[in-house]
Amino acid sequence: MGESILTTSLNITRAGVEVRNLSKSFGSHLVLDDISMTVAPGSVTALIGPSGSGKSTLLRCINLLETPDRGSITVGSQTIDADQRIRDVDLLKLRRQVGMVFQSFNLFPHFSVLRNITFPQEKILGRSREEAEERALTLLGRVGLKDKANHHPTQCSGGQQQRIAIVRALALNPQAMLFDEPTSALDPEIGLEVLAVMRDLAETGMTMIVVTHEMQFARDVGDHLVVMADGGIIEEGNPEEIMSDPREERTRRFLNAVL
Ligand code: ADP
Ligand code: MG
Repeated sequence: MGESILTTSLNITRAGVEVRNLSKSFGSHLVLDDISMTVAPGSVTALIGPSGSGKSTLLRCINLLETPDRGSITVGSQTIDADQRIRDVDLLKLRRQVGMVFQSFNLFPHFSVLRNITFPQEKILGRSREEAEERALTLLGRVGLKDKANHHPTQCSGGQQQRIAIVRALALNPQAMLFDEPTSALDPEIGLEVLAVMRDLAETGMTMIVVTHEMQFARDVGDHLVVMADGGIIEEGNPEEIMSDPREERTRRFLNAVL
């Protein structure tokens, strides 16, 4: 596919992500049951599994949008341990290192595209408007959307909005990126333009965890595949190997449904 369009503009510090014995309940419902997972720095982990298996909750725990009941999360050198008192300053530090992209884009509808990307940089990193705009425009250029800077999100297609959401997260210099079904709200051919940006990002060496039903992406870009069911990891390993010869019957059933 030629030279990566993002490589030159991102100065990425690669962080590993380590999840240890993570459990999370909502009321009496145990949604994550003693999950442990290691994501090597600069690697891409694809996370699959049936609806309701806990994939989104796991991502939300990793960037602490949800507080784990048990266990620990480490991103780079920053660890949050549910068994110890969690200090706000540590929580913010870890959250800052992790970018997240959702299925539904979640852009601010009343802001321009540019303001969507500059606002978090100013609020979270304390960058000046000039600095934030320069970073935003560089990144928008890299995903082919510089001309959309002064539009509103509603004037952009779904695929463009998702690329803007990715840029918004990247502008904050995350050390790892989490994607929660980033293409499932998009038409397949529109999803491809988003997947192309994610593929580029992977080539820059970004550490990524991607919840997706795009099995071709998981196979081509994923270094590691994790299969979840009922709040646990039932199988993990090389994407190609698991897809061609799953060990678990539940994995086989899930793959038959999505392939
Ligand atoms: P997945 O992303 O794999 O579809 P989720 O992590 O969204 O799964 O959900 C796992 C389970 O946790 C589901 O049964 C869901 O209903 C429940 N759940 C998720 N978020 C909440 C919440 N905030 N409050 C109560 N239950 C929740
Ligand atoms: Mg989900």
